[in-house]
Amino acid sequence: MGQIKKSSADRIAAARAKGVPILEESGATDEPILRKVEKGTKKNYDMMMDFWDAYEITEPGSKPYNLKTSKHFMETYIAGSEGLSVWTVYQKWSDFLAGWQRRPGERQIPSVVSRSIYNFILGPMQVKYNLSMERREKVYLTVAHFNILMEHRWQKDWYQPKHLGTLVNDHALDLSSIYTSARLSEFLEMRYEDLEFGILRNKKGQATLGVIPTRNAKGFVKNPSRRPKHGLYEDMEPLFANPLLPFFAIAIANNAFRHYDSLESIFDIPAPRRGTVKILKFKKSFKNVPFFQRMSRDGPTGEPEKATSYHRRKVALGHRAGYIVNITTHAGRREVIVKVAEDGYEETASMKFSGHSDPDVRREAYASSLLVDGQSSYWNKERDGDIMDSFRGMSLQWHPSMIHSLPAKVQDDLRHRPDFVERHEEIKSLGERLKGLTAEAEVKEAKKRQQELRWKQRQAMSEELSKWRDIQQGDRDTDLEDTDLEDNVASRPAFFNRIRHLNPLRDKLASSLFKNERLRSPAGIEVLRDMIALYKEDVQVAYRPSSCPKNGCCPVCSKGMDQIKCGEEWDHIFRCRAKTLKQKYGFAELCFQCDAWVTSKAKWRTHCQTHLDDIATLPFLFNPLRFRKTLAAAGQCPFCIFNSALDPETRFKQFPYAQPWKEHINKHFTCLEQSCRGPDESKTFQCPDTRCGLSFDSVRGLRYHCHDSQGIDLIKFTPLKSRTRGKKRAIEANRGPKSEESDICFVNETVETLSSRDRFIPKDEVGGKSRRRRPRKHPTPISKAGSGVKMPLSPTVHGKRGRKKKRILYTASPAGSSSRSASSQSRITLSSTELEGYEFRQDCNDETTSLSSCSASIHHDASPDLKLGDGAGSESESEYELVESANHESYWVSRKRKRVTTPAQGVATRPELVIYV
Ligand SMILES: [Zn+2]
Ligand SMILES: [Zn+2]
Ligand SMILES: [Zn+2]
Ligand SMILES: [Zn+2]
Repeated sequence: MGQIKKSSADRIAAARAKGVPILEESGATDEPILRKVEKGTKKNYDMMMDFWDAYEITEPGSKPYNLKTSKHFMETYIAGSEGLSVWTVYQKWSDFLAGWQRRPGERQIPSVVSRSIYNFILGPMQVKYNLSMERREKVYLTVAHFNILMEHRWQKDWYQPKHLGTLVNDHALDLSSIYTSARLSEFLEMRYEDLEFGILRNKKGQATLGVIPTRNAKGFVKNPSRRPKHGLYEDMEPLFANPLLPFFAIAIANNAFRHYDSLESIFDIPAPRRGTVKILKFKKSFKNVPFFQRMSRDGPTGEPEKATSYHRRKVALGHRAGYIVNITTHAGRREVIVKVAEDGYEETASMKFSGHSDPDVRREAYASSLLVDGQSSYWNKERDGDIMDSFRGMSLQWHPSMIHSLPAKVQDDLRHRPDFVERHEEIKSLGERLKGLTAEAEVKEAKKRQQELRWKQRQAMSEELSKWRDIQQGDRDTDLEDTDLEDNVASRPAFFNRIRHLNPLRDKLASSLFKNERLRSPAGIEVLRDMIALYKEDVQVAYRPSSCPKNGCCPVCSKGMDQIKCGEEWDHIFRCRAKTLKQKYGFAELCFQCDAWVTSKAKWRTHCQTHLDDIATLPFLFNPLRFRKTLAAAGQCPFCIFNSALDPETRFKQFPYAQPWKEHINKHFTCLEQSCRGPDESKTFQCPDTRCGLSFDSVRGLRYHCHDSQGIDLIKFTPLKSRTRGKKRAIEANRGPKSEESDICFVNETVETLSSRDRFIPKDEVGGKSRRRRPRKHPTPISKAGSGVKMPLSPTVHGKRGRKKKRILYTASPAGSSSRSASSQSRITLSSTELEGYEFRQDCNDETTSLSSCSASIHHDASPDLKLGDGAGSESESEYELVESANHESYWVSRKRKRVTTPAQGVATRPELVIYV
């Protein structure tokens, strides 16, 4: 039907009929209407307006229209805040200007005021309050780093989302952000009507799938028809880089196509005529359905995924993969925009691609000077794009063996730290109080305080973790390629490998996704199917192939799985099977590693022996591990496994349940503790795993080590008040009598930089100059027991995964000279008499810091040749820490590391200098 033409008078009459009165009665005002702002932006405006209101109470009647008030207002803001940079304050002032303008009845702040305040911030305020001028370094997610992230997500990650479909969504979002330059939230609200799938004809004349998602780009909200669209297509290898894989998987999994309900039917569509596209229509009911849906435990919820959740997951993935800086969506966007510029697209095209409406913004924010290879231009040589990429990639530093949790000793120290204990006690007493409270306001208040305290605890932990990461990354300049770099705290990085056999889909994808295959090749289709299954998967319980239910029933006693208590499904089948096999054969043992039942004693003995002979089949982590309510790995005992005096079946004993395993392991530790009560204090405790080769001079040291690297997680870390001797430690199991002092040191550096033995001779000995120290009457021999952790002295030691590690150990000889040999915890130990005369000051406030129990102030010339790197602090600033050995006979001293800022790279860490005097 066409539109009926109306006369102007008719139109007015129609409006009146619809209820629009004459002007006088209409209530229209002269208030200007401002552009609608987004939620986050509004929040920022509100925050500054809130601050103004509070300020106005102290300065009644003041208005920011004059410079005097505005200056005072902003100075109050700056002085009242901490850690501000000039650029943050700039932003705050802009927010205030915008917020003020939006206040009913107020007019715009004159531009002479608003402009002056910017200069006021950058000038006098910057100087007066020493505002930082640093801008966060721009991060470019180059191809190399993107690959690392993908490998981590699909091959190593220990993160378990509520539903694995989240992985498919995130994969699609990650790819679309790097292929289309989308900002964080621009695809998240996409509905099915915002994207189109089609079949195209490629150069070779083959049919190829394509998708055109439309971005809800910033600045185009008002102009939906001009929103940037991007063509993504199927011809892309390897499979993990194929954008159609996740996009298509999501659409198929939701059964969204109107005329096609299977992969085959779509892949069978022949290539259309050259230049034309066969569009695949969605079902009408899908028009308003969000494409990326938030996942609950039961699958897609129908709600769009939240930008904050996706952002958080993305940043966390980067951290887990070994990056300290946050890798955000913008890092990929920045890189692709640079690459597009490099490919020489004309300006309008690349503006449209990046979704910019202002060319200056684009140039300013995304141009990278690292695009230009001046060297090659000068010599008329071809530009080396790879090198330029690597330079940009330097904005991201990858630490493949970054620790993800604190070493046991550090955690143990933390729980004794007074602030920690205090917060813990307060949380506990608040919990008690909450039980008795009924008034809503009081409950709210107490809960808020509890949350705040918990946050502080976590914050303190993460601060400690970053401190440890710094230490760990001290000399990580070698073998970055070596993926087998061992992790100090092994349980998380090892998780995926321990459970993958119970998660067949992810197990398969970990390798198949990285194949160089077309999407419609048999391998590609298999991956696509696995992706779809992952998206639809509804698995709460995993089963071992040896004990799967049959038609929803126990394969042995036919009891329905739904009649079995949730969480005991696998357990039931396992017990049922064991019982019947035992009745039939008199013996039944399941090898959890091979997932095979062995039904005779002799065969079991041979089976165990086979494992024991092949050291590669023995676990590195020994704790029992459950995944989706099924035992993924049985607990074993490293003390028994490596004890060749025992029977094979005793050595290879498996513990399906945690409690017996804990008791068994604890018995070993207790035995060790009792064994050192005797007169022989110099006893050392070998790591039971013979592949490891470390030994410790206390059982506690061994416990920490086993906790960190063998998954023997028996130490509990609840904050404890005092560390008094003899007092029984409540929670943790039998710590033994020798557990008072910190006697192991977690510093992982080598002291290769300090090669000369003279460096370890105090100056007064070298130069004959006497200082506060008394001359030694006779050299004190250093007993082996003097060192904290004893190491085998061979020049190279095989790491626990067979990798050669460089280890250097300095052992002080009687004359105070040093020899050098192997150890990762390098140290010089001197007897207490050798340290006599130095001022050692016990730092009461610092009693439980992670590195040591004491802090020592030693003059720097205790190690005269120690060279400080460029930019390091002055000598007097050097701090040392003194650690006393368990038997109180010797000490070692370590220099605290320093952070220095180099102008080129922002904050960098200077290679560590740790010296043990
Ligand atoms: Zn049964
Ligand atoms: Zn086996
Ligand atoms: Zn044992
Ligand atoms: Zn070990």
